[in-house]
Amino acid sequence: MSSAILVLSGPSGAGKSTIIEAASSEIGDYYFSVSTTTRESRDGEVDGVDYYFVTKEEFEEGIKRGDFLEYAKVHDNYYGTSLKPVKEALNNGKLVIFDIDIQGHRLVREAMGDIVVSVFITPPSLKELERRLTSRATDDIEIIKRRIENAKDEIKAIGEYDYVIINDSIDLAKERFVTIAKAARLKWSREELDIFIKEWID
Ligand code: ADP
Ligand code: 5GP
Repeated sequence: MSSAILVLSGPSGAGKSTIIEAASSEIGDYYFSVSTTTRESRDGEVDGVDYYFVTKEEFEEGIKRGDFLEYAKVHDNYYGTSLKPVKEALNNGKLVIFDIDIQGHRLVREAMGDIVVSVFITPPSLKELERRLTSRATDDIEIIKRRIENAKDEIKAIGEYDYVIINDSIDLAKERFVTIAKAARLKWSREELDIFIKEWID
């Protein structure tokens, strides 16, 4: 069965969650990889839905056990992708969507590059990012400042992605995302190509 990984990165506050939610009914059967994190949950976030919220010790035990496909430290907290549910979803032919940072994208590309399609999502400017983070009102001012500083580095990795979505209008951004998600499903892995070639010749 054909399966693919769609990696979304972009500064915190870029609109990644908003876009996935808006597109969710238009991209077919997919599995959103729920990450594990040591950061505090925000008001309204649900354990097991938005993230698995764990302590630093629990996360480090997970690292030792080899639970993570990839993990990284972002804004002084650990964030990681669990391997097991991702494998299951891929085996079931689902499109697997990751919302991970630029370090995670590099690691996933290294591990599973031939089935990865990636997209960098960003607001039109740093000023607009600041405005959105402030009006989202989920983080205190110090945390927002740190996210803004981090965004200045993250944007420099934009050229490592297959696609870029400027999230100016949410409707347009959603449409672009739906197009990319549909194209990601059509990507063939090396393994699938080898099987096809063999059968085609036989
Ligand atoms: P992320 O998941 O990338 O951290 P969110 O989806 O939480 O970002 O979006 C950050 C904030 O910006 C939210 O308050 C959201 O409602 C708002 N937002 C998202 N897209 C747009 C847009 N195109 N125009 C204006 N505000 C937006
Ligand atoms: P937030 O705290 O705003 O939810 O996420 C902060 C950053 O961590 C975002 O850039 C987000 O994409 C990234 N992130 C979330 N989950 C993971 C993960 O499992 N791995 C990595 N490497 N980054 C993640």
